[in-house]
Amino acid sequence: MASRVTFIGAGNMASAIIGGMIDDGHPATAITATSPSDAFLAPVHERFGIHTDTDNVAAVRDADVVVLAVKPQVMREVCEDLRDSLQRQRPLVISVAAGLSAETLDAWLGGSLPLIRCMPNTPSLVGAGAAGLYANANVSDAQRRLATELLEAVGLVEWVDDEALLDAVTAVSGSGPAYFFLMFEAMEEAGVKLGLPAETARRLAIQTALGAARMAQTSDQTPGQLKRNVMSPGGTTERAIEHLEQAGLRQAMLDAMDACASRAREMA
Ligand code: NAD
Repeated sequence: MASRVTFIGAGNMASAIIGGMIDDGHPATAITATSPSDAFLAPVHERFGIHTDTDNVAAVRDADVVVLAVKPQVMREVCEDLRDSLQRQRPLVISVAAGLSAETLDAWLGGSLPLIRCMPNTPSLVGAGAAGLYANANVSDAQRRLATELLEAVGLVEWVDDEALLDAVTAVSGSGPAYFFLMFEAMEEAGVKLGLPAETARRLAIQTALGAARMAQTSDQTPGQLKRNVMSPGGTTERAIEHLEQAGLRQAMLDAMDACASRAREMA
C-alpha cells in the first residue's frame, strides 16, 4: 500500500513535490496538504485531487510521512502544535525549510523523532531540482529509501552524512540556479553588444546551458575533458576560456561559494 503523506503547507514547494509524486504514480488519495488559507488549498485540490485540510493536527493523524513545507518563520508554532500527535504516532518527518537545523526542529517536536532535513532548490518547481538530504539517527533505512523515492519525484537526491554539509549543498545547488541566471544575463548582454536581438541571445544562451548540462550528465568524460574537446588550439573557444580564466572567474566562483556556505552557517 502507498505511504500516506501529509504536507503541512500547500505552497510552491509542497505543490512541486505533490505534482512529481502524482506523475510518479503515487495515489492522490494517499496525499493530504494543509494550509490555514483556502486560497492555497483549492488549487492543489483541483489540480491533483488530493485531500486538503485546514487542521494540521487532524491531517497528520494517519500519516506515515509528514512533510513540513511552511516558511521558516511559522515553523516553530507549526511544530509545537503538532508535537503531541507526532510523538504519539512517530511518522517520518521531512523538513524542506531553509536554515532550520534538525536539532532545532526535533526539539520543537518534542525530541527523538525520525527526522530528515532536505535542502531543495527552485528548479524542483519544474521537476529538475537537486536536493541534499540529511537524516538524524532515528531514521531507519526503509525511511531513507522512502524519502529518496518521494523527493526523486522532483529531481536529483544526494545524501550527506554530516548535517554541516548541507551548507555546502546550499552553496552548490541551493543557491546555484542564481549563478547560472547571472551567466545567462551576461551572455545575453554580450550577445546584444555583438548585434543579436536580446531574445535571440537569451534563447541561445539558455539552450546552450541545457545542452551542456545534458552532455555533462550523459557523457563518460569529466566537464574538464568536455571543455577541452571544444577548445581547438588557436580557436574561438580557447580565446574565450583564456579570457575567463585570466579574469579570475574560477577564483570568483570559489570565493562566492565559500561566502554562501558561511552565510548559511550564520543563519542556522
Ligand atoms: P509558500 O509561501 O509558497 O508556501 C507556504 C505554505 O504554508 C502556504 O500554503 C501557506 O498557506 C502555508 N502555511 C502558512 N502557515 C501555515 C500553518 N500554520 N499551517 C499550515 N500551513 C501553513 O512557500 P514555499 O516557497 O513553498 O516554501 C516552503 C518552504 O520550502 C520554506 O521553508 C522554504 O524555506 C523552503 N524552500 C522553498 C524553495 C522554493 O523554491 N520555493 C526552495 C528551497 C526551500
